[in-house]
Amino acid sequence: MIMKSLISAFGLFCAVAAATFAQTTSPTPELYSQKTLDDLVRIQKAATSGTYAYDQARYMSATIGPRLSGSNEAAFAVQYVADQMRKLGLDVKLQKVMVPHWVRGVETAQLTEWHGMPPGATRNVVVTALGHSIATPSSGITADVVVVNDFAELDRLGRKNIEGKIVLFNYKYDMGLQASGFGLAAYGQAVAYRTNGASAAAKYGAVAAIVRSAGGSQSRLAHTGLMRYQDGIPKIPTGAVTFEDSETIAYLSALGPVKMHLTLTPQTLPPVESYNVIADMKGSEKPNEYVIVSGHLDSWDLAQGAIDDAAGVAAAYSVPAILKDLGLRPKRTIRFIAWMDEEQGGTGSDAYYAEEKGNVANHFAAIEADLGASHPIGFKFSGKPELARYFGPLVTVLRPQGAVLAQYQPGGVGSDIGPLTNDGVPSFAPFFNEQTYFKYHHNAADTFDKIDRGEIGEVSGVVAVLAYGLANLEQPLPR
Ligand SMILES: [Zn+2]
Repeated sequence: MIMKSLISAFGLFCAVAAATFAQTTSPTPELYSQKTLDDLVRIQKAATSGTYAYDQARYMSATIGPRLSGSNEAAFAVQYVADQMRKLGLDVKLQKVMVPHWVRGVETAQLTEWHGMPPGATRNVVVTALGHSIATPSSGITADVVVVNDFAELDRLGRKNIEGKIVLFNYKYDMGLQASGFGLAAYGQAVAYRTNGASAAAKYGAVAAIVRSAGGSQSRLAHTGLMRYQDGIPKIPTGAVTFEDSETIAYLSALGPVKMHLTLTPQTLPPVESYNVIADMKGSEKPNEYVIVSGHLDSWDLAQGAIDDAAGVAAAYSVPAILKDLGLRPKRTIRFIAWMDEEQGGTGSDAYYAEEKGNVANHFAAIEADLGASHPIGFKFSGKPELARYFGPLVTVLRPQGAVLAQYQPGGVGSDIGPLTNDGVPSFAPFFNEQTYFKYHHNAADTFDKIDRGEIGEVSGVVAVLAYGLANLEQPLPR
């Protein structure tokens, strides 16, 4: 009994220990050739001392700017990245994707009545429309605000308290989790209100829904992001407000009725033809087996899409650039993908999977970088936990840059590679402490200055060592 519970509690640890034991009792199978290990050291040094990823991320964010799905900037970025890959001599394919085309309009909000207000006063509220929201009339709407802290409270209040009003979901993004390095977990909890709040409120007759931002800005910036309307429920306009404004409105509404004037005028235009950029560096021994290295090309529109995800996509395509520079060719094909439309529904990921679903067995591994460009402390992996025994030599190569943790993460490590992960493809992502990423994620401060030259070099180092190491692994991976 005791042994059994220990094994379940330390399942991963035991799997690794068992694998180590097996190695000592039978001849150790080779994972990486000495030549590959020597080349990985060169790759890691080139990535961390070079500026390719940094320069590319700067061009994409500061020069091209925001790359909202369906926008001219997104179309320009597709051609730009495809050209960079052609310059490296890669086989480039533009994979057609029909993407949503939602455009932001006016977005303003004021409180017009509250208990104890000076006569004639109004109070500006910082608001941003959520992706795919419908518009208010151009003159806006005015209604009482009902504040709820979660869905359960909304349900308790019911139609009699909600009908005709603006619902504010005051669910708190957990700053404590963020400060401890777990921003993604905090985001994962809060994002349900951004995604589903509008339909939940509309079900009880609300005229609009606003949510406390699902993000960790403490500089009065609202975080946008995708929302989804539920079928069969009236669509109402929806936006996010800053945590500071949410706190103020919650305080005032505890004193008495609060009225808000809200104007949001986004538009949903017809879908636009766009592309995933796919560039293959053909393998010398197994050209039909693929190691994907990727990031997403589209972004939100409030800033420059620098950390989300110019940094990730630039780090991904630094891999073929570094290999070309060092005169190296992988044994398996390294396939760089710049995904289109991660932010507004993943139509790029869907299009790739639709074309490749009969060919998943040839996808040896998949890497996606989409959590910014701070100092990576290692990498995360999804798939079988026993994959862990294949990574020791890669961790050794990454030790000089402090990226030493190979962290098992069941359930996936990147949204665009998710369909491949679900089909058993071993999947990887750089592993970050998430203390800073969600301060800028989807808000007006996601600008190039947030990217540090040394740190994006380290991200490049992690993805390049993973990609080349996996492409040259002497054995199949368990899946
Ligand atoms: Zn992203």
